[in-house]
Amino acid sequence: MRTSEIANRYTGYFEKQGHLVLPSASLISPNPTTLFTIAGMVPFVPYLLGEQTPPKTRVTSNQKCVRTLDIDEVGKTTRHGTFFQMLGNFSFGDYFKEEAIHYAWELLTKPQSEGGYGFDTEKLWVTTFTDDEEARAIWRNEGMDPEHMQVMGMEDNFWTMGGPGPGGPCSEIYVDRGPQYGKEGGPIADENRYTEIWDLVFENYEVDNVKSKTDLHIVGELANKNIDTGMGLERVAYLLQGKENIYETDEMFPVIQAAEKLSGLTYGEKEEDDVRFRVVADHVRSALMIMSDGVRPSNEGRGYVLRRLLRRTMRSMKMLGVQEEVLPELLPVSKSVMNASYPELNDSFADIENAAYGEEDAFRRTLDNGTTILDVAVNKAKASGSAVSGADAFALHDTYGFPIELTLEMASEQGVQVDEDAFRSLMAEQKARARADALKKRGNVDLSVYDDVKKSLEAPIDFLGYTDMSSRSR
Ligand code: ATP
Repeated sequence: MRTSEIANRYTGYFEKQGHLVLPSASLISPNPTTLFTIAGMVPFVPYLLGEQTPPKTRVTSNQKCVRTLDIDEVGKTTRHGTFFQMLGNFSFGDYFKEEAIHYAWELLTKPQSEGGYGFDTEKLWVTTFTDDEEARAIWRNEGMDPEHMQVMGMEDNFWTMGGPGPGGPCSEIYVDRGPQYGKEGGPIADENRYTEIWDLVFENYEVDNVKSKTDLHIVGELANKNIDTGMGLERVAYLLQGKENIYETDEMFPVIQAAEKLSGLTYGEKEEDDVRFRVVADHVRSALMIMSDGVRPSNEGRGYVLRRLLRRTMRSMKMLGVQEEVLPELLPVSKSVMNASYPELNDSFADIENAAYGEEDAFRRTLDNGTTILDVAVNKAKASGSAVSGADAFALHDTYGFPIELTLEMASEQGVQVDEDAFRSLMAEQKARARADALKKRGNVDLSVYDDVKKSLEAPIDFLGYTDMSSRSR
């Protein structure tokens, strides 16, 4: 089953249960404290909090998400993407636990010929919150094997917004991939063998004093209980497509194939290279989708995340032995597979290509300038059995435009550490020097400014505010 078909089945199933199908919101988070939309519920927070009236009390969506927190997992685990799609069904004071669990069970276990996903019930496992006997009873009623139900505490199975507001227990659904993938004993024993696919959150409490997950205060029950669920589309896709991980599914594997062609290497032969192939498949797609929502490479915020994704792609390809430019070969492949679900890519792709290929040119120059210097520093460190010095890392940053993350990554690939603390204190010293210089300069300028003001006050004053201000604001 293709990834887009899995998504359509989800929204189609919930539409039949009376949900309004809403389009994905932008990847640019509406919440000023986070850069990207990290979950399907993010656009619905005002409805969950009761601050705005939703268009319907039941909605469903396939939300584009970016989680940079998971970047180090990419390519190493079977299931973490920086970009992924989260399917969700939401109830704003409408149905609650019983229906939410019933819907999830029905969609997962219904045969594929009848519109479901056809998972074998024997392979499904769930976790529930310690106090949530009600959820366990509902799961048992639906047909879940009681032996496949595990109990977890606050840290794992209680959801809050990270501050005062709604909160509640959750129940996570896992698929057992089989004994060849790890230890028996459910998700508590092995999260690689048992892949989490869906999280059901039952928001029935108002919480306060949220210092940490284990130190919160439940104020009372909410008048309007909400349901908020999130299912990882790529995770379900890799399980249903019989693949080993999310990077081998139909929306990502064509990029791995293009990378194989460029490098002349074969995916599946050497684990170290396979991780790089998977990083490339993930990062090219994430960069494409982030750019499609209007972000361009820069030195801060979202633009910096994008820059890192593009640079990691280029470096991974270099490690796979490719010396030529890579993005013109990879980005169009990702666009062509994502196009079916995101036709808006057609409109912006020329502009995306321009920005991405320009970034590649600039980065190739940075690498050309700094790599030899880094190699010298790494060899020096190896010879003395120490880390790359803060001074060398600082010179790479200051003179050759190597961001510290790049120095750290490239050094660690050669098994060498970097004295990051010394680097940071050199950076701080440089900042302090720059501040002192600026103050000195300002002192000089300030004096002359006062002189000018003094002179102008001695002359007759013409008020030029309107014309001056309007020309300045243009
Ligand atoms: P995990 O512990 O496996 O990283 P999570 O507990 O952080 O997942 P949730 O925040 O509950 O995940 O997100 C809901 C669902 O979204 C998960 O059950 C999973 O299917 C999917 N998901 C979460 N993070 C990712 C990711 N980085 N890549 C792909 N899918 C993801």
